[in-house]
Amino acid sequence: MNQTIAFIGLGAMGWHMASHLPKLGHEVWVWNRTQSKADHHSISFQTQSMDIEKAVQADFIFSCLPTSADVEQLIAEHPPKSGSIWIDCTSGVPKSAQQLNQALKKIGVEYLDAPVSGQTIGAEKGTLTVMIGGDVAAFDKAKPIIAAFAGLIEYVGESGSGFAVKAINNTLMATHLWALAEGLTVLKSKGVDLSAALNCINHSSGKSSMSENIMAQRVLSRSFDKTFALDLLQKDIGIAVDLIQQESLQLPSIHLIQQQFTLIEKESASQLDFSAAVQGLEKINQIELR
Ligand code: NDP
Repeated sequence: MNQTIAFIGLGAMGWHMASHLPKLGHEVWVWNRTQSKADHHSISFQTQSMDIEKAVQADFIFSCLPTSADVEQLIAEHPPKSGSIWIDCTSGVPKSAQQLNQALKKIGVEYLDAPVSGQTIGAEKGTLTVMIGGDVAAFDKAKPIIAAFAGLIEYVGESGSGFAVKAINNTLMATHLWALAEGLTVLKSKGVDLSAALNCINHSSGKSSMSENIMAQRVLSRSFDKTFALDLLQKDIGIAVDLIQQESLQLPSIHLIQQQFTLIEKESASQLDFSAAVQGLEKINQIELR
């Protein structure tokens, strides 16, 4: 049966994610706050730029916006039709997912929290990891559609669980980046060649995706190419910290990481790639990682 799919939010991630959907053979509608991007998307791919009132009438609606608050506002202003499934790929707040899930159920809509990981390159290649919380039957229906841009699709539990996994994943990413930057700061102060040191680490037990990719490509190169805004990572760490507080757990390192990642002010953080967080450490120690 031919179904309709809408994608809302053609940002750094959504642009690429939506580009894979037409291959499923269904009609694909795209909407973006800045309409010119949606028009450009429909020229570049086999999608149709739609107004928001029509987009929310699709059978499957994807959203990929900065925050849960943005999604909540959009849904409040433009409720989807009964029988549809809303797949929220925003890195959002677990409690918001639970509230949206309950509110949408009342109008016959299923809501899945379905955040993604794999950066813009994974979105472009269609190899994202998608971690999903919500109703299992809705998950089963949505899975073949999500597969258009995914390398791994994992059902992780009840509503909000996908967002929780994503927040912890990104907090780990931040921790790995920060720990690596601290380690390289010691080595630089000892006069060690950082590229050579990184090569050793990447062939040893201390490696991570931060040491294998981000440190050389963005920090040592001093390019700090922006694909994922620092303020979005700060948001994700904040979600993890809120979860810790809600559960009254004693997990000091995550609080410490949050402090470090807010060394750079919020205003500039939206303009900078997350890798630029390292510059806060460089400033304190007056040591540049290059
Ligand atoms: P971008 O800032 O690149 O894009 C944000 C998109 O949301 C744009 O299309 C923007 O529209 C739209 N938007 C912003 N505010 C609103 C609003 N109030 N109402 C409607 N539309 C709005 O973000 P990303 O694509 O980088 O990130 C999107 C989500 O994906 C975030 O939750 C992020 O944490 C997560 N994520 C990002 C990754 C990355 O590597 N970038 C990786 C994995 C997850 P407009 O064009 O008009 O500005």
